[in-house]
Amino acid sequence: MRKDIMRSSDLRKKRIRKKRKKRFLITLSVLVVIAGGILFAQYIINKENKKNSQNVNVQASKEDEKKSDPKENENKKDSKEENKEDKPLLKNKNVNPEGDKYAIEAEKVKSMIEGKGEKDDKKIAFLTFDDGPSTTVTPKILDTLKEKDVKATFFLVGNAVDNKKHEDLVKRAFNEGHALANHSYTHNYKTLYPGNHINIDAYMDEFNKTNEAIKKILGDDFNTRVMRMPGGYMSRKHYKDPNLNAFDQKLSEKNIVSIDWNALNGDAEGKKRGAGELLERAKKTVKGHDKAIILMHDTYGKEGTAEALPQIIDFLKGEGYEFRSIK
Ligand SMILES: [Zn+2]
Repeated sequence: MRKDIMRSSDLRKKRIRKKRKKRFLITLSVLVVIAGGILFAQYIINKENKKNSQNVNVQASKEDEKKSDPKENENKKDSKEENKEDKPLLKNKNVNPEGDKYAIEAEKVKSMIEGKGEKDDKKIAFLTFDDGPSTTVTPKILDTLKEKDVKATFFLVGNAVDNKKHEDLVKRAFNEGHALANHSYTHNYKTLYPGNHINIDAYMDEFNKTNEAIKKILGDDFNTRVMRMPGGYMSRKHYKDPNLNAFDQKLSEKNIVSIDWNALNGDAEGKKRGAGELLERAKKTVKGHDKAIILMHDTYGKEGTAEALPQIIDFLKGEGYEFRSIK
């Protein structure tokens, strides 16, 4: 009898112990699962943040990104604004984050038109406008680009940038996602190429002065390494400029890339052309170039270019070109 009682109380104790052990194990495994979940979530969030900040730097976005959901882009923007660590990535840029999605690195653009890059069937057009801004032509060009949803590259002349009445145009071009590049300060061949030889010091002074002029308007985060020589790099080559090698060295030292063109609308060729003629010239020179850098001008007197631009863009779209800018 006693033994029986002992046994049954032993059994009860054993059962209770077993139950406690079971409860403990269940609690422990629940805790482990929760902790694991938290760690995993943190890992995913970190990864997403990293991805977002890398997106700022993404080059040459593809067609599908162009058509991406505007709400999604808004979200990206929000997270960018919240995350201050992203800010340095936006520094030293010649294009704003929105325009950056349409911009291709200058080196890549250069090798594309030299036919050195990876060959693909993609048709890309780079609209470029030199010598501006101007109050008469630049606003019309910006209106058209906005209407047609196309990004371009403006090769600015420093002394035009330094003119108070052009300040808002520099801001507008940048804010609307276009790339801003350097086209010297004076555009004066006698200062830049005395005796038809590049004066390297004078050229670099003008390059820096122009960048400073743009920074004065857009802030210190702006910087451009994209440059087009007045008259074109090709003219220096054509004249067998003896200073060209030293100049090249200087450019690569400073990480500056000179960009010429392989097509044009002819708005700077001698006689003044009407919009129809400019369109025809653009069509003719673009032909055969899957990657076309089109030279145009947005300085005073180039109203024809503003007038022809809608048709030039429509033509290029019809031929299957995508539009990109140069960074
Ligand atoms: Zn020029």
